[in-house]
Amino acid sequence: MTDETLNISYIINILGENEANGVSAVSPPIFQTSNFYFRTVGQFRDAISNEKENQIYSRGNNPTINLLCRKLDALEGADDALVFGSGMAAISAAILSNVKTGDHVICVENPYSWTNTLLNSNILPKFGVKVSMVDGTSTEAIFNALRPETSVIYLESPNSWTFEIQDLSVIGAFARKHGITTIIDNSYSTPLYQQPIKHGIDLVVHTASKYLGGHSDVVAGVCCGSKERIAKLFANEFLTLGGILSPFDAWLTLRGLRTLPIRMEHVSNAANKIISYLKTQPKIDRIYYPYLPENEQFDLAVSQIKKGSGLFTVEVNSAPEAIEDFGNNLTYWRMAVSWGGFESLIIPSCTFVRPGLYSSLPPTLIRFSVGLEDAETLIQDIDRNISRL
Ligand SMILES: *Cc1c(COP(=O)(O)O)cnc(C)c1O
Repeated sequence: MTDETLNISYIINILGENEANGVSAVSPPIFQTSNFYFRTVGQFRDAISNEKENQIYSRGNNPTINLLCRKLDALEGADDALVFGSGMAAISAAILSNVKTGDHVICVENPYSWTNTLLNSNILPKFGVKVSMVDGTSTEAIFNALRPETSVIYLESPNSWTFEIQDLSVIGAFARKHGITTIIDNSYSTPLYQQPIKHGIDLVVHTASKYLGGHSDVVAGVCCGSKERIAKLFANEFLTLGGILSPFDAWLTLRGLRTLPIRMEHVSNAANKIISYLKTQPKIDRIYYPYLPENEQFDLAVSQIKKGSGLFTVEVNSAPEAIEDFGNNLTYWRMAVSWGGFESLIIPSCTFVRPGLYSSLPPTLIRFSVGLEDAETLIQDIDRNISRL
């Protein structure tokens, strides 16, 4: 065992457990309480003078939630973390905490759809924040988008659907030099496979609804960063916008974390087996997966991501009707949004092709999220139906 695996095991199994416990229960209690009482006015006064460090009200602190935060910041190699009621709550708070009217944000193309909505449709434009969407595979394109009023560079690496990656160290160093905050959505890799803070990124956000929770039973988000940045976020967007996680959902996420290493190992290995099978299939034109040696960005992937996860997309040379027929007949691969749960899922991009609705994705993509079923069963399910494509 390497030090690193020891360390991950320690974080997931032992770190912070006693603080939230007190009765030696192996599974930590759920502190289902909104508030915390004080014996004296003096104690009360001392506590409310520092909301970040004291348990006063569960919109600020709660032991079950704090236990989850301690494990997530340790996994990311960050000083501190806050958890939120969804990935989007974490992303919104992280971005809003670093922009003001007149500022400019550089964001990579093809981010998660609601991140795009936040930046370009319904929130930032209302406050006069401008956004440039740039090709994240080109550091030049990011550098060229710089303006005097640029305050945030927002990354998602690998990004959604097509999994292009960004050179985190180069972009992190550039942003530092110009006093710009970098934020990355690290949901795809989880902190086990990529730690952006080590590459000089300031804030790391995740949806915990995907791999971190891992069981499709919780919607949650997290933001990790330095003590100063998280303190600022806590005092402003976290307490004010109030998009907190419930203690029960924090407990479910903690339970999910216990098995994160073995789940990631499984989905990574199974994805590789399934991709090897798909490579032999003539209906498959292209496979989008950052960890394929034939991928143009493979060397960069290896330099910053430990392993590919269980999420990939294929492009097929089939009509939408054929793709529908394929999807409608699968047994183990269910069709749903989201990903990263125990269940294997596909989402065909032709789902988004509806009268009156524009989709920026070509209708020939199918995104696969590998679950915890064995790879052979999943391959057989595809193989039984691939002639429909
Ligand atoms: C799902 C997702 C989100 C949003 O997370 P929610 O928990 O659903 O709010 C953000 N980023 C990525 C990459 C996602 O896939």
